[in-house]
Amino acid sequence: RKIGYAVVGLGSYATRQIMPNFAGCEHSRLVALVSGTPAKLEQYGEQYGIAKTHRYSYADFDRIRDNPDIDAVYIVLPNSLHAEYSIRAAQAGKHVMCEKPMATSVVECEAMIAACRKAGTKLMIGYRSRFEPYNKLAIELARAGHVGPTRLITAEHGFPIQPGQWRLDKPLSGGGSMMDIGIYSLNAARYLTGEEPVEVSAIESTDRSDPRFRTVEDRITFALRFPSGIEANCISSYSSAHNGYRVIGTEGSIDMEPATPYVGQVMTIRKGGRTEPRTLPAPRKNQFAGQLDHLAECILNGNRPIVAGEEGLADMRVIEAIYRSAAERRHVSLRA
Ligand code: NAD
Repeated sequence: RKIGYAVVGLGSYATRQIMPNFAGCEHSRLVALVSGTPAKLEQYGEQYGIAKTHRYSYADFDRIRDNPDIDAVYIVLPNSLHAEYSIRAAQAGKHVMCEKPMATSVVECEAMIAACRKAGTKLMIGYRSRFEPYNKLAIELARAGHVGPTRLITAEHGFPIQPGQWRLDKPLSGGGSMMDIGIYSLNAARYLTGEEPVEVSAIESTDRSDPRFRTVEDRITFALRFPSGIEANCISSYSSAHNGYRVIGTEGSIDMEPATPYVGQVMTIRKGGRTEPRTLPAPRKNQFAGQLDHLAECILNGNRPIVAGEEGLADMRVIEAIYRSAAERRHVSLRA
């Protein structure tokens, strides 16, 4: 049996990346659409062969409860709507896939986890890189000490943002580059080490006279200290182009640049004076299909997703500490 998904929010990521990739799935299929724009429901409904009975507006979202074809809901809305729609989906008895960032605060993340636990539904966050072969290999090599025990990680993510979008409106985004793109640097530092940071230090640089940055931050550089002594130095930016990370061990380094795009990861290993590019065969399933099928398999087999709600919550705890560190100009401890 294939797990039936309803996609909620027919914006750019949903329509260009997620919906086309159901075609490469083994355990997942697109069965319903939720949108506030009737023309989009019509256009994508026809394109994907979605019955009229399976096309919903936000006003009748809660009626998904009565549709047994829908097993899971994929929330691809602006960040501040993630918590509300995830909780309503759980209350309708549906499993939840929610885009990153999981929500806009720790409190919201905790409420989402509690709602899914109460409903007995799975909750997974759209951390697609965990299903991408080069990132999977980087995790394996870093944690196995392939270039010696890891001492330092550097991670940079940013892009020059275009004006006039919800990402620049704090009530909808919850924050600036850190919530949207810096989270890739943070998440990578956590998955490459397999550890949770115990201390954070951050500096924010935002030109408030730039009309794009009236309510959200542009650049944040942040340092994380991990329990084993590993440090991560990271960049998050809305005004410069970066996408990469480097794992530096006692004997060399693992470079990924770019590290987290939709396609085209490049890995280079430097060790013992040699520089070796690593190329992997094209995967049977790309990261998008891998992510969709992972939740489907967890539902079918009763397993816990490798990027469950707790993973989104862990990032959000660090993001709040990063904002606090930058605002108060001090190191912030994350020790329990
Ligand atoms: P988008 O602006 O293209 O789409 C958002 C959709 O939400 C639009 O269709 C819009 O009409 C709809 N919407 C519903 N209620 C709204 C409201 N009150 N205000 C504004 N829009 C409303 O954005 P996107 O790039 O598709 O991003 C959506 C989510 O997906 C975000 O959480 C983002 O972080 C995430 N995302 C993830 C990735 C990834 O690689 N994992 C990539 C892009 C976006």
